[in-house]
Amino acid sequence: MVLQDLGRRINSAVSDLTRSATLDEKAFDNMIKEICSALLEADVNVKLVGTLRKSIKQSVNFKELPAGVNKKRIIQKAVFDELVKLVDPHAEPFKPKKGRANVIMFVGLQGSGKTTTCTKLARWYQTRGFKACLVCADTFRAGAFDQLKQNATKAKIPYYGSLTQTDPVIVARDGVEKFKKERFEIIIVDTSGRHRQEQELFDEMVQIQGAVKPDQTIMVLDSSIGQQAEAQSKAFKASADFGAIIITKTDGNASGGGAISAVAATHTPIVFIGTGEHMLDLERFAPQAFISKLLG
Ligand code: GDP
Repeated sequence: MVLQDLGRRINSAVSDLTRSATLDEKAFDNMIKEICSALLEADVNVKLVGTLRKSIKQSVNFKELPAGVNKKRIIQKAVFDELVKLVDPHAEPFKPKKGRANVIMFVGLQGSGKTTTCTKLARWYQTRGFKACLVCADTFRAGAFDQLKQNATKAKIPYYGSLTQTDPVIVARDGVEKFKKERFEIIIVDTSGRHRQEQELFDEMVQIQGAVKPDQTIMVLDSSIGQQAEAQSKAFKASADFGAIIITKTDGNASGGGAISAVAATHTPIVFIGTGEHMLDLERFAPQAFISKLLG
C-alpha cells in the first residue's frame, strides 16, 4: 500500500466515525481496528501497531468521556498524536555548525540510495551557506567513485576519492584530513553498501568510523524495504552506531511503514526523506508536519 493510501484510509476511518450519527464505543473500536489494519498492511511493525491501538484507547478513554465534550475533536487529536509518536523518537539529531568541520558519514545497503543522497545532502547544506564536500570511501563497488564524481560535478561540489587506493579506511581518512585543512564545513563520507560477507561490511564501517570520527552517522533506508527494516537497522546499529536515518524513494510505490518502524526499533530520528531521483528531491523531515501531510 502506498503511503498516501495509508493516509487516506486513516483519514476516512476517522471522518466516517466523526460523521456518523451514533458516536458510540463500538464505532470508536471499529475506527481503531480500521486504522490498525491500514498500518499493518503498510508494513508497520505489529508490536508498534499494538501499542498505538492501546494508546489511542487510553488517551480517549471513551467510557469516561463526560457528556458535552467534543468527542470528535478528542478522537481526532488522539489519532494524530499517536501517529506522530510513531515517527518521533524524541531524540535530537546532530545540527552542524558553521565555522568548523562537521563530518557526516553515510551507511546503508547497496542500492538504498546512499550515493545519491550524499550529494543531495551536500547540496542542501551548500545552498544554506555551508562549504560542503564529498568523500567516496566505497572502494568495493567498481564505478562507485565515478558515480559520486558525476553527481558532485553536476552539483558543483568538491569531491575526493581514489582509483588506485583499495583501502577505504585510508581513502576516508585522507579525504577528511584534506578537506579539514581546506576548512570545509560539511564533509560527507560515502561508504560501501556491500561486501562479500556482511561481517566484513560492518567491520569496515567500524574502522572508517574510527578513522574519521564522524560528528554524525546517517543510515540510509530504502522505503520499499518493508518488514526487514527493523532487523536491518538493528544490525547496523549494533556495529556502526548511527544517530539519524534518511528514508529514500518515498516518491515510489512503497508503503514506507517498515522504514518508519526502524525509527522506533532504534530510537533514531528520521532527518530527511528522499522524494525523487533529482538532486533537489530531498525534504527535511519533521514528525508533526509529516503526519499532517499524510492525513491531508
Ligand atoms: P547506493 O548503492 O546506496 O549508493 O544507491 P544509489 O545512490 O546508487 O541509488 C540507487 C538508485 O536509487 C538510483 O537509481 C537512484 O537514482 C535511486 N534513488 C535514490 N534516491 C531516490 C529517491 O528518493 N527517489 C527515487 N525515485 N529514486 C531514488
